[in-house]
Amino acid sequence: MNNDKWKRLIPRRTFLSSGLIATGSLVLGGASHTNVAIAATKRLGAGKINLNALKSNFGFKGAVLSSADSGFEAAAFGELWNKLQPKRHPQVIAQVTDEQDVVAAVKFARANKLKVAVRGGGHNWCSPSLRNNGLLIDLTQLNKVISIDPTARKAILQPIVSNREIQAALNPHGMSFPSGHCPQVKLSGYLLSGGMSWNHGVWGPGVGSIEAIEIVNSKGNMITASATKNPDYFWAARGGGPGFFGVATRYHLKLYPLPQAITASVYYYPYESIIELAQWLGPRASQLPSSVELSLFVVQAPPDLAEKARSSNGKVALVTATVFADSPDAAKSTLSLLDSYPLLDQCLRKSVAQPTNFEALFDASGALWPSNLRSKVDAMFYNAPLADLLRATKDHLLMAPPKTVFLSVVYTGKNRPPATPPDAAFSMTGALYGGPWTMWDSAADDAKNVSWHEECVQLLKPHIAGHYVAETDTVGHPEFARLSYKPANWKRLAELREKHDPEGLFFDFSNGLS
Ligand SMILES: Cc1cc2nc3c(=O)[nH]c(=O)nc-3n(C[C@H](O)[C@H](O)[C@H](O)COP(=O)(O)OP(=O)(O)OC[C@H]3O[C@@H](n4cnc5c(N)ncnc54)[C@H](O)[C@@H]3O)c2cc1C
Repeated sequence: MNNDKWKRLIPRRTFLSSGLIATGSLVLGGASHTNVAIAATKRLGAGKINLNALKSNFGFKGAVLSSADSGFEAAAFGELWNKLQPKRHPQVIAQVTDEQDVVAAVKFARANKLKVAVRGGGHNWCSPSLRNNGLLIDLTQLNKVISIDPTARKAILQPIVSNREIQAALNPHGMSFPSGHCPQVKLSGYLLSGGMSWNHGVWGPGVGSIEAIEIVNSKGNMITASATKNPDYFWAARGGGPGFFGVATRYHLKLYPLPQAITASVYYYPYESIIELAQWLGPRASQLPSSVELSLFVVQAPPDLAEKARSSNGKVALVTATVFADSPDAAKSTLSLLDSYPLLDQCLRKSVAQPTNFEALFDASGALWPSNLRSKVDAMFYNAPLADLLRATKDHLLMAPPKTVFLSVVYTGKNRPPATPPDAAFSMTGALYGGPWTMWDSAADDAKNVSWHEECVQLLKPHIAGHYVAETDTVGHPEFARLSYKPANWKRLAELREKHDPEGLFFDFSNGLS
């Protein structure tokens, strides 16, 4: 897109108020409407900015882009996972090359009274890394696994390492880590948000296996946070997500022995019988060990089952169960429970107790959540019976856009729901996790699919115990950020932000979004 077209995309109010000129000097203007944002902008003040000083005075080594630069649009929007993209954008993007560049960018922002947003992998569904105005610190190049120590069961890595990359680095050492499910997603924002992980029932959420985090704070100091050092930061970073008031530059992780017999079963059932299926499956969850990841999906039928799903508008019910076991016999015996479903003869296709590995699990998840789609996502926790979620949504799901995934993770084990770490901002849990991942291709379908999605969330509302900050629309519904925390944790997060970032250097959950 040429520069003129790009400028037309920027709301006129924002473009004028940001006062951009091609020489790289600009005047800060506040385009945000919330009271909090206005207050924060006032505290930061406004002034003239010489972008060249980021390199000459602060020693920044990476690329610096203002919105007058030709590469700006690609840098701001190109790597965002969700192709349903907002128009809001920063004034400046600083693409760091190392941790010292993060320090330089933060100090420059402070000196020039620019608010700061952080881009990890750009995978958050509602793109909170894009804010109106301010400086965006892009961490894309902080992408190294620094060390793996299989004997001590520890690893240190920079944030832009994907789920697939971390397992590929660890598994050959016989080690693993509770990474997320989809191959491309980066640990960066995943580990700051909570981390709904593979083998969650045994290993817990990703944040539970962080031993320390290296952080650049709002003063531009590099600090290490752990249970004993800078514990406020350690608490807030493990769950603060898009509301965290620092830049995480290295994660120190605790590792686990790689389960030797990861094994999976998959069953497709007719959509018509999904309530009966859910009624049976829900109560089975506590009979399965917590090493089983059990899910019930509503998806479009694969091509070989399309004809059989014609009467349900192409929808089928899909049950997947993955056990992180150490022996094939134990895995088989555990998964055999799913073959005792009284309506098993209705099964359209099944694959029972097949050996698998992280590579194959990522391929399967990647196929359900492909790249380059437009999407609206709200994933929530519930304590309702599984069948109640399906009763509430069954008719509506028949009309789901074809690429949509409706997922219910049914936590297993005697002690479900899974515990959250006692000393972290991440505090929401439930017996079930999931909701609609509404996905589609064409901009022409935006309005109707957004409306379908919003109605789906409304139908689920009576059953929702809480939201998950990394997979819910905290931009469209700012209250979903608050609903992602226990009230005491939400309050403490705000208090710690005020204590450690009193000038409001970092955008919080809601500044700069409108
Ligand atoms: C296909 C797909 C599958 C997913 N599967 C899972 C899953 O299985 N489990 C799960 O828990 N989540 C899952 N997610 C959600 C994902 O973990 C979050 O969206 C997460 O924020 C992605 O990290 P990111 O670095 O790409 O975030 P970004 O979009 O880059 O950043 C989001 C926000 O996080 C903050 N942030 C990110 N990195 C840093 C940092 N280093 N320092 C300071 N602030 C930072 C910033 O405030 C930023 O605005 C999935 C997302 C997608 C797209």
